[in-house]
Amino acid sequence: MLQCDTSIANPYTSESQRSRVISENWFRSFGYCLSCDSNELNPTAANTRASDFVCPRCDQSYELKTFGLKPKRTLVDGAYSSMISRITGGHAPTLMLLERSASWEIRGLTAVHSTFLTPSVIEARKPLSPSARRAGWIGCNIRLDLIALDAQIPLVAEGRASRPEVVRAAFQQFNRLGGINPTARGWATLTLQVIRSLGADAFSLDDLYRRELLFSSVYPANRNVRAKIRQQLQILRDMGYVEFCGGGAYRLLTKTAEF
Ligand SMILES: [Zn+2]
Repeated sequence: MLQCDTSIANPYTSESQRSRVISENWFRSFGYCLSCDSNELNPTAANTRASDFVCPRCDQSYELKTFGLKPKRTLVDGAYSSMISRITGGHAPTLMLLERSASWEIRGLTAVHSTFLTPSVIEARKPLSPSARRAGWIGCNIRLDLIALDAQIPLVAEGRASRPEVVRAAFQQFNRLGGINPTARGWATLTLQVIRSLGADAFSLDDLYRRELLFSSVYPANRNVRAKIRQQLQILRDMGYVEFCGGGAYRLLTKTAEF
């Protein structure tokens, strides 16, 4: 199940084309929707640049990306403006990061939940130089390091596949975040990322204040980061992600996927 059929790419010589054909073919049979119980995902025929799939039942879209080794910090993606408009239009894709060996064994497959793709984790790259074929074109980077580990959910890790019900539970805990508009949601998801990076479920307000500079680096225009952090804690509490324990003590209730 975790070995790809490479013969399907025999007609192709370009390495990037071969990689796309092989990985799409594997994902078509392995992939399933994380947002609902559909075991089927359909390739979107219209888009020929990216490997996109969509759930026929709930409309969640998926963007498949294949690596020898998945990057930890920054993921290179397509046009900046089209990613931002997908996000603000409420159609951000869930990323599917596929890691494979030289002989095309699947080593890892990690989903990055679509609700965590907010404008604040999308970085514009420098416009292509005037001498480039697509002069002035602006691509984007996705900042994985600003996305909470809970939202980076393994379907396959170290060559072993997790059970779909475990993966779906880890994924669906964040579906209700989709009720916040994407720009405001960036604060809530960044707060979740910072809390998770503290390394323990129990934390204090001071722990978050000590990370003030990180919040400021993502939101340089905001002059009242501490008030914003307190507001996010209330939002996360109301949504059931954080518990207030009294006396400035809090507890994170989200779960990283167990494997
Ligand atoms: Zn679905």
